[in-house]
Amino acid sequence: MTSNHKLDALLLKNTAQQTTEVLLGNMFLMAVNTAIFWQAIPQSFLIIWSLSLTSICVFRSLLAYIYLNRPQVQALQRWQALMIITSVAQGIAWGTYCAVAYQYLSLGEMVIVVMSGAGMTSGAVASTSSSRVAFLSFSIATLAPLAFLFLSSGTPKEQASGFLICLFFLLTLRQTKTINQLLIDSFSNSIELEKSKLRSDTLAKELYQLSTMDALTFIGNRRGFDEALTREWQRATRTHSPLSLILMDVDNFKAYNDNLGHQEGDACLKEIATHLAAHTRRAGDYVARYGGEEFAIILPDTTIEKALAAADTICKSIEALELNHPQSNCSRFVTLSAGVYSLSPSVDNDRQDLVRYADQALYQAKSEGRNCARQLTTLRN
Ligand code: GH3
Ligand code: MG
Ligand code: MG
Repeated sequence: MTSNHKLDALLLKNTAQQTTEVLLGNMFLMAVNTAIFWQAIPQSFLIIWSLSLTSICVFRSLLAYIYLNRPQVQALQRWQALMIITSVAQGIAWGTYCAVAYQYLSLGEMVIVVMSGAGMTSGAVASTSSSRVAFLSFSIATLAPLAFLFLSSGTPKEQASGFLICLFFLLTLRQTKTINQLLIDSFSNSIELEKSKLRSDTLAKELYQLSTMDALTFIGNRRGFDEALTREWQRATRTHSPLSLILMDVDNFKAYNDNLGHQEGDACLKEIATHLAAHTRRAGDYVARYGGEEFAIILPDTTIEKALAAADTICKSIEALELNHPQSNCSRFVTLSAGVYSLSPSVDNDRQDLVRYADQALYQAKSEGRNCARQLTTLRN
C-alpha cells in the first residue's frame, strides 16, 4: 500500500470513527426542532423529514461500523464516495427542513432553525474535517437554501441574517482547512514513523544475520552455533526429544594448506561449507563453521543412529567431491572425520556435555584412521 493510500485510509477511518457523534447530534437537533415546531410546520412534512434523516444517519452508522470492523483498503474510493454521499444526503435533509421552516416560521422562530443548521455545520467541522469534500457537501447543502432565501428576501434584517450565514460558512471552512491539515500532518508523521520502524527492524534483522554468519563460508559462525544450540537445547527440554550433534574436522588440512597454499585452503573450506549446507535441509537443522577447519551440524529431534548415519553419508559425499589432497594420509581427496553424540536434556546433563562428547567422538574418529564418522564408545571426563 502506498503512503498516499495509507493516508486516505487513515482519514477515512477518522471520519468513520466520528459517526456516533454525528448520529447523536442529528437525532438531538431533529427531536428538538420537531418538538418545538410540531404545531407550526405541517406534521406530515416533519414526520417524513424525521424518518428520512434518521434513515440516512442509521445507514451512515452502519457503513462506518462495517468499514471499521473490516477495513477494505482496496475499495477505499468506494467507501469515500459512500461517506460523501451520506454527508450530502444529511445536508439536503437539513437544507430542505430549513427552507420549509422558512415558509411557516417567523424571523424570531427562525433563530432556532438557523442555530440548528449552524450547530450541525459546527459539529461537521470536527466530524468530517478528515474529508473536506464531505464537509463542503454537507455544509453547503445545509446552509445554502437558508442563505439564499434570506438574501433574496426584501427585509434588511433577513438580508443581514443571510450575510451572517455566509460569513459563518466561510469561518467554518477556514477552520476545517486548518484541522484537515493538522490531521494530514499527524497521520503522515505516524506513517513515516511506522516506515522507519520497519526499516530499522529490517536493518536489525540483517545485522543479526551478519553477526551470526561466517564471513568466509557464509554458513553460521561460532556465535550462531552457540545460539542455535541454546535454542534447540531448550526446545528438546520442552519436547523431551533427543538432540544430536555432529562435529567435523577436515583431515590433514595443515598439509593441504602447506601444499596448495592458504587461498586454495580457503576455497576448499568454502566448498565443504556449501556442500554441508546443501545437505542439511531439514527445518531446525543448523550447520556452522565451529572454528578453523571444523564444522558442526545440530540435528534436533534426531536419534544417535540417524545422526551417525547422516555423518557417515556426509563423510562419503565429501570424499566424493574429489578435491585433490596429495598429502593426505587417508585418501587421495579431501576428507572429513566426524564425531557424533546425542542427548535427551535432563537434570543430569547440559548442552556443553553434547559438545564435549561429540568432540571426544571426533577424536576417536581421528585416531581410528580419519575419513570416518564415530559415535562415542567410551566416555572420558
Ligand atoms: P587433523 O587431520 O588431525 O585434523 O590434522 P590437521 O592438519 O587438519 O589439523 P591441524 O590442527 O594441525 O591444522 C589445522 C589447519 O587448518 C591449520 C590451519 O592453517 C588451517 N586453517 C584453519 N583455519 C583456516 C582458514 O580459515 N583458512 C585456511 N586456508 N586454513 C585454515
Ligand atoms: Mg582442527
Ligand atoms: Mg583437521
